[in-house]
Amino acid sequence: MKVYKFGGASISDAEGIRNLKDIVCRDGNDLIVVISAMGKTTNALEKVVESLMQGDKALAKERLDAILMTHVATAEELGLSTEAMEHVLEKGLRDLGNEEAGYDEQYDQVVSMGELLSTALVYEYLIEQGVDAAWVDMTETLITNDRFREAQPDIVLSERMLRMRMASATHRVTIVQGFIGGMPDGRRTTLGREGSDYTAALVANMLNADSVTIWKDVPGILNADPRLVENTILIPELSYLEAVELAYSGAQVIHPKTIRPLENKNIPLYVKPYFNPDAKGSVICDTQKKIDVPVYIWRKHQTLITIRPKDFSFVLEQSLSKIFDVIDRNRLKVSLIQSSAVTISVSVDATRYVPAALAELSEAFKVTYNEDLSLLTIRGTTPDILTREQKNRVVLLKQQTRRTARLLVKDIIIHNNTN
Ligand code: ASP
Ligand code: MG
Repeated sequence: MKVYKFGGASISDAEGIRNLKDIVCRDGNDLIVVISAMGKTTNALEKVVESLMQGDKALAKERLDAILMTHVATAEELGLSTEAMEHVLEKGLRDLGNEEAGYDEQYDQVVSMGELLSTALVYEYLIEQGVDAAWVDMTETLITNDRFREAQPDIVLSERMLRMRMASATHRVTIVQGFIGGMPDGRRTTLGREGSDYTAALVANMLNADSVTIWKDVPGILNADPRLVENTILIPELSYLEAVELAYSGAQVIHPKTIRPLENKNIPLYVKPYFNPDAKGSVICDTQKKIDVPVYIWRKHQTLITIRPKDFSFVLEQSLSKIFDVIDRNRLKVSLIQSSAVTISVSVDATRYVPAALAELSEAFKVTYNEDLSLLTIRGTTPDILTREQKNRVVLLKQQTRRTARLLVKDIIIHNNTN
């Protein structure tokens, strides 16, 4: 069995969905296909949540209708009826339920609709094209806890559910939603933005798949983001460990949580271009090979928090555990840590949880912060590269080991040469 994952960009229109069908039919025997929401649907659904939270139901409905319209238009272009999607939408809206629920819970109920809609659409198309396909609802299969927006799956229970659903009907292709799951009481959850890769890895782990392939709009894993840099170089093979490092540094090509479920069972992960399925792409596997080109990774939208004790005492272990307790409880995502005798500096993703954490830290410490920063990680750096990358940039913080340099900078200025 193989697992394929298609992201939002690869199924953003009718042409993308036709292309998915071609790829699935080429080697579609005993295939699980994990699918994200179409195009920018997840962002659009986040806007729906925003208007709901502001109590503007009319605007929420208007925004939701617009999302539905793009799906309907695509269905019509593919010559499909829109019945299945309407059914999904109707059920989804019925389950929106609890208006008292907090932001994170409401978010998950609304945003999960994106994957339910996209998979309904793709499934209808495959059936219409005569593909032997099944559709599995992950909100009733991938069972999670109630940490909304970052739900953690119960692997044992989920594996049992998934195997049960797979056994009840054998089809050549099974379509599942990435990114979403559900609680035993029926409330929907999500695994965190860009979480469909993680779903693919979990499914592969639970079913002992032979491999996972992520179909992307890039030729494979590159040594820099092709949207930011010209002359990128393809990395044909890398180890699980190097992949985790890249993903953690902010490489957008794979979600950081993806690697562990695969490494645990030694399942290779291929990253291939959906516009050229015969290309070799990249593979992440159990290899000793080291990446032999410099790799540039940007993690954008960073806030640097600097923490000092109020009484000028040293930052000792006790304050450290207090600081990290606040960070953990407020779900901050740490990208870099640096300490001196009296200060600790922590760079975090600028999420909506940051202000509350700052307020809490300020009760016990003197806290300052800088916003709108980007973290540049360079693996395999040289003195020349470092000099070039620091030129014309305001560097707030720098960390360096033998192979890796990390620069927290004020704004992104791209130097075009990556060699
Ligand atoms: N649709 C979700 C997102 O955009 C999950 C994913 O694409 O992996 O974050
Ligand atoms: Mg996406």
